[in-house]
Amino acid sequence: MFTKICPKCGSTSIHPYVLMMGFNMDSSLREYCMSCSYGYNDQIIFPEIPEVEVEEFRKGMSEITIEFW
Ligand SMILES: [Zn+2]
Repeated sequence: MFTKICPKCGSTSIHPYVLMMGFNMDSSLREYCMSCSYGYNDQIIFPEIPEVEVEEFRKGMSEITIEFW
């Protein structure tokens, strides 16, 4: 099974929302991360990975974080 994951915080709580734009109320379906609101102001394509690789994905994220610290 595949799940969407937030590249910013590693959360898998990705939820869709409908954005209404302009006077015509054009709507576009977007997604955002419920944990850190990533994607709420921008159109983000969240990566979709197998659920078994979620832990690996997060591990890779923390390694990157350590480099920046
Ligand atoms: Zn997030």
